[in-house]
Amino acid sequence: MRKQQTIKHETEITGIGLHSGKEVTVRLKPAPEDSGVQFVRVDLPHLPTIRYKPSNVISTRLATTIGENGVVVRTVEHLVAALWALRIDNIIVEINNEEVPIMDGSASPFVYIIKNAGIIKQDKPKPVLILKKAVYIKENGKFVAMVPDRGFKISYAINFNHPIIGRQKMNISINEKTFITEISSARTFGFLEDVGYLQSHNLALGGSLDNAVVINKYKILNEDGLRYEDEFVRHKILDAIGDISQLWYDIRGRFIAYKSGHTLNNKIVKRLIQYPDAWCLVNQTTEEDFVLQGVDLQKEPNF
Ligand SMILES: [Zn+2]
Repeated sequence: MRKQQTIKHETEITGIGLHSGKEVTVRLKPAPEDSGVQFVRVDLPHLPTIRYKPSNVISTRLATTIGENGVVVRTVEHLVAALWALRIDNIIVEINNEEVPIMDGSASPFVYIIKNAGIIKQDKPKPVLILKKAVYIKENGKFVAMVPDRGFKISYAINFNHPIIGRQKMNISINEKTFITEISSARTFGFLEDVGYLQSHNLALGGSLDNAVVINKYKILNEDGLRYEDEFVRHKILDAIGDISQLWYDIRGRFIAYKSGHTLNNKIVKRLIQYPDAWCLVNQTTEEDFVLQGVDLQKEPNF
């Protein structure tokens, strides 16, 4: 069992929104137990609050947008991934515009400010969601699943018909350390040929080589190249962690994805909620819990 956590001191970071192109400051503040991740739009009257949870996800096109009562916050995924992976369970995220800043396109600037703010333990235990049965979705040649496992693991594969990306796959056990060293600095990526279309639709207005890996038909345009040879699949894993973190709980299970993205990731989260037989919540995870909950860890999932 572990205790819930929040940050020790307030901290903030300023940058521009990837899609809006607008300057924005995000201020992180400690929050009480069981309150989760709550965004507060401090630029609007009455300071509307939007909790990061599955029913508040209103768009997954190119980024994750959450909303409540007509008030939105866009592109939350890299920040919430960092919060969840660093086990910041309860936090207030004050934001003075509609989109979380993209910073360098990865989660590492958020990791940096969270680490600097310090982390404190609270009194209540953090519930753990244990996968008991596999749930999966197959759709248009894409696939996503959540299956039982003793730890929290991600197996992700992508297959782009592009010479620079191609097929990439990664299996990783996610904890704070592996998230920071293997995943958090992988940047978002985009194709130069899409930029004109996106910008004509008021998207990617803040996009540049400073906050994304940009690829044309043959090569990477960023002067310094990639941070990892397989930075693309690592970034997809970062996005998936952000999506899964809507569940709030710690997770004992394996997330498996082939050519997935925010839309399908969100669908599997919702599917999981619809099938309470597939999981249970406990306040600790000993081997005994797995036995008591009837989790079958021996049997390989059969899709
Ligand atoms: Zn992303």
